Amino acid sequence: MNANLYEALAGGFPDDRTRIAIEVPGGRRFSFAALDEASGRIARLLLDLGVKRGERVMAQLEKSPEAVFLYLAALRIGAIFVPLNPAYLEAELGAFIADAEPAVIVGRPPSEAMLGKLACGAKVLTLGQDAGGSLIERSDGLAPAPPIAEVDADEIAAIVYTSGTTGRSKGAMLSHGNLLSNAATLHRIWGWRNGDVLLHALPIYHVHGLFIALHCALLNGSRMIFLPRFDEREVIAQLPRASVFMGVPTFYTRLLAEPEFGPQACANMRLFIAGSAPLLPETFVQFEARSGHRILERYGMTEAGMITSNPLDGIRKPGSVGPPLPDVAVRVAGEDGRALAQGEVGVLEIAGPNVFKGYWRMAEKTAEEFREDGYFITGDLARIDTDGAIAIVGRVTDMIVCGGLNVYPKEIEAVIDGLEGVGESAVFGLPHADFGEAVAAIVTPERAGGELDEARIIAGVKARLAGFKVPKRVFVVDALPRNPMGKVQKKALRERYRDTFKG
Ligand code: AMP
Repeated sequence: MNANLYEALAGGFPDDRTRIAIEVPGGRRFSFAALDEASGRIARLLLDLGVKRGERVMAQLEKSPEAVFLYLAALRIGAIFVPLNPAYLEAELGAFIADAEPAVIVGRPPSEAMLGKLACGAKVLTLGQDAGGSLIERSDGLAPAPPIAEVDADEIAAIVYTSGTTGRSKGAMLSHGNLLSNAATLHRIWGWRNGDVLLHALPIYHVHGLFIALHCALLNGSRMIFLPRFDEREVIAQLPRASVFMGVPTFYTRLLAEPEFGPQACANMRLFIAGSAPLLPETFVQFEARSGHRILERYGMTEAGMITSNPLDGIRKPGSVGPPLPDVAVRVAGEDGRALAQGEVGVLEIAGPNVFKGYWRMAEKTAEEFREDGYFITGDLARIDTDGAIAIVGRVTDMIVCGGLNVYPKEIEAVIDGLEGVGESAVFGLPHADFGEAVAAIVTPERAGGELDEARIIAGVKARLAGFKVPKRVFVVDALPRNPMGKVQKKALRERYRDTFKG
């Protein structure tokens, strides 16, 4: 049987292919037939340009339906799709091109000359957010779609570069089988049903928007309301037409900051899903109070798609990412790889059909991150609760070792966040002559311009936690430094405050 992901996705398209697959509010809309034809024509163009199975098609694009068609076209011909964040600049792009050695690069029209310089033999095409550029110009008049390439489940469908918050970006190789197994599982456990409409507000250079959201909607034959970017007002305007929404936690806090967000906007909604960064329990609680919906939090990563999910039916616990997906095995292990007792904090290790095939051209790095029995070491610190649900405590690299004792920032952040007048916080370690590392924190005031006092925050933590966990310094800032997926950039914080305890 052909394991090509596109074939499986197309199997979910509705019988009536005139139904809308993607619409940009106030802009272009495409039926399932149009999506199939447009991706087929781009597939034809890629083949005409000489792209072969297993060769890379790199894309650095703004979000648009046509960018999705390019992804689908790459799948159809068995090429490897390599999405890149449009925020990357010339030097970073050069490094990705040298690493991935794409046959074709599709960039935004203003980047054409720069990409031409960096291309290393790759053919350069362009695509603007308004569908302008050579990709569509050249594919528009082409003959009908070629047949869908026969691939094995283990063949690579995409290389997604990790966001590189701790060192150089690594290209995670995801196979057709990885992506399909995860999509099929999520489609089932999130109860996708006839008539569901997805409000798609995520970027599409990351697994959350490109794979999780898109694949579920396509497999279900659902309409996607495709927003060019997240905009809280636009989300509120479109929500009444949607039944499913996926977002990073920042989307939810931004919706809550809008006074008009409430039950009316959510009248037709059945499911709000959050992930990619921790959802604060306060956000969960406030969101339920305002909308009547309990957000379903799930956890995953580039290397494995989704790993755990709170249940569709049953208790969705704030601060928990739920049990592992039905086909994913998990264990919490110590540094030596031995499984720890239930309830202990250690590194989460996982195995399953969703786990990637390794890092592109980094065999050693890949070997380091897999155990001999095939488990992948996620690098996330976690605890398994008695009910089997998993709590993510932070990244191993963010763990602070203070005077030989392990300190998990999340525990301290939860205490600081509960103090009066505090909006949110981030706790991190800084070099310290006596302790090795010392605990430090940044906090934001609950209301813009609100006053916060360092000594009061330190005293507040001291009253609730052991002395070695109490921050030695607390800095008040306007906002936490986050990347577009909502993750707090702790590495940047450690660099910014590096010299705090020096001298
Ligand atoms: P990325 O590969 O960019 O998707 O980042 C994956 C990382 O995001 C994971 O390894 C976790 O550290 C973090 N992450 C994703 N979802 C959650 C969640 N629900 N709660 C806490 N951390 C999360």
